[in-house]
Amino acid sequence: MSEQENLKQHFAQRVIHHAREVLEVWQRLQRSEWDPTGMTALADANARLRRSSERFEQTEHCLLAGEIDGCLADIRDNRGRLSSDSILALNQVMHRLGRTGLRHGDPLDQIFMPPLRKPVYLALHDGERAERLAQQLEFFGVVARVLTDTRGFLEAMQERHPAAILMEVDFDGPAQGLRLTERIQQGLEQKLPILFFSRDETDTPTRLAAVRTGGLEFFTGALDASTVLEKIEHLTRSAHAEPYRVLIVDDSRAQATHTERVLNSAGIVTRTLTEPFEAMPALSEFQPDLIILDMYMPDCLGTELAKVIRQHERYVSVPIIYLSAEDDIDKQIDAMSEGGDDFLTKPIKTRHLIATVRTRAARARNLKARIVRDSLTGLYNHTHTLQLLEDASFRARREQRPLSFAMLDIDHFKRVNDEFGHPMGDRVIKSLALFLKQRLRKTDQIGRYGGEEFAVVLPDTDARSAAQVLDKIRGRFAEIAYPAQPHDLACTFSCGIAELVPGASIKTLTQQADEALYRAKRGGRNRVELFEG
Ligand code: GH3
Ligand code: MG
Ligand code: MG
Repeated sequence: MSEQENLKQHFAQRVIHHAREVLEVWQRLQRSEWDPTGMTALADANARLRRSSERFEQTEHCLLAGEIDGCLADIRDNRGRLSSDSILALNQVMHRLGRTGLRHGDPLDQIFMPPLRKPVYLALHDGERAERLAQQLEFFGVVARVLTDTRGFLEAMQERHPAAILMEVDFDGPAQGLRLTERIQQGLEQKLPILFFSRDETDTPTRLAAVRTGGLEFFTGALDASTVLEKIEHLTRSAHAEPYRVLIVDDSRAQATHTERVLNSAGIVTRTLTEPFEAMPALSEFQPDLIILDMYMPDCLGTELAKVIRQHERYVSVPIIYLSAEDDIDKQIDAMSEGGDDFLTKPIKTRHLIATVRTRAARARNLKARIVRDSLTGLYNHTHTLQLLEDASFRARREQRPLSFAMLDIDHFKRVNDEFGHPMGDRVIKSLALFLKQRLRKTDQIGRYGGEEFAVVLPDTDARSAAQVLDKIRGRFAEIAYPAQPHDLACTFSCGIAELVPGASIKTLTQQADEALYRAKRGGRNRVELFEG
């Protein structure tokens, strides 16, 4: 690399650092109420981003910082009140900001390290095991730092707070891991996510102590890298979560406005109907995570509307919360048995409303994820992948942007099963899934298409760029050696890619990708082929 490129890279890193800070404040806000101090912190972080991006001529970051300023100014003009529009607008810019580190054509190491990738600290009793785990994590783009004793751990904590900590209960002495965790969590407004580990099964008091210090997970026995990865992946993904969407149906405009304000102040997006009969079209258009129904409306009861909503297969699992002045317990129970999930009485306490909505909505999203995702890999299942491809194709047509579709199939996978056993085969499938998740952009949709077949929807990408990205991934994947007996195992995959042609159907696109995949197989496997019409 030339001197000048080196410098440019260095400055770009500074700007990315400031962008991360903005994203971190944003992330914090999403877990709390957006009080004035939080908004000031966001404005300050953004001002730093703006200055550095101007100074180092990073046009895209500069533009985004300008847009964030615009959003913040709107909120200020609205006397500090958040509205659904301002939440959505901010969320959109933040998404774009989060993606700025991930562009095709970037040097590979940037694709490896998307923004918000804070390190993960590994505090394990067995240093060698920790090093091995760190290496495996690094392969999947997770920056892991191994710490070997209390002093080193505390020093690292002073330097930087990690995205998560994997802490062994007996790290640096019996139960010392627990005490250390308790110590660092003290006084932290936002507790750090901790994954505990113990080689031996432990008693309930130990597990309780772990939970009390912020333990989200308790691993025992052999520490499997893929299980740890999955958990970390889950923790870091929430940074990009969409705000929750709540539909409010209430005949009283004043009550509805109050509910809206409370929810908006917590970063939750709302839509209000004062007319219950408009509920069905609003549901399909707004796609809420949760519905709040007023119990008594002139034209229909909340329970009646709930029944109508529940008649639609699509909305069977959307949580419904009733809102009412009713304090008769019997009536509440009746209402719940009629399609409701919770019952809040007016006047509702702000915190109570926000907490109820957040927990219910989070659970509903979880449930939905189970329906559209494959259980082994956490990727989208076949049906949902095609659904996403269809959505993406509509968008591509409307915005006249390219769209590519890639199909991957692991080479000679039968041999893996035959020679190393089915569980090993499963591990390879899982690891390729993670590999793809870590290396593709957040906007790319990844599905498990069949047994050892995967599919990727790449919006805004022509076939040639898609091939470049997937070929890099192909090369790196082939380098992984899975420890196994009697010898280590290496795997490759073949890939076929097709680009959406204006006027063509999704069916044609998938057939073309399949044809290209077939060519890759016939051509000798371990390669990427483009469809050639
Ligand atoms: P190639 O694709 O290179 O032509 O060869 P292949 O051996 O991969 O071919 P094929 O598609 O015929 O075999 C796929 C095998 O994958 C068959 C099936 O037993 C195995 N398989 C499918 N799903 C799973 C799974 O979930 N776990 C495991 N372990 N194996 C699976
Ligand atoms: Mg196959
Ligand atoms: Mg195969």
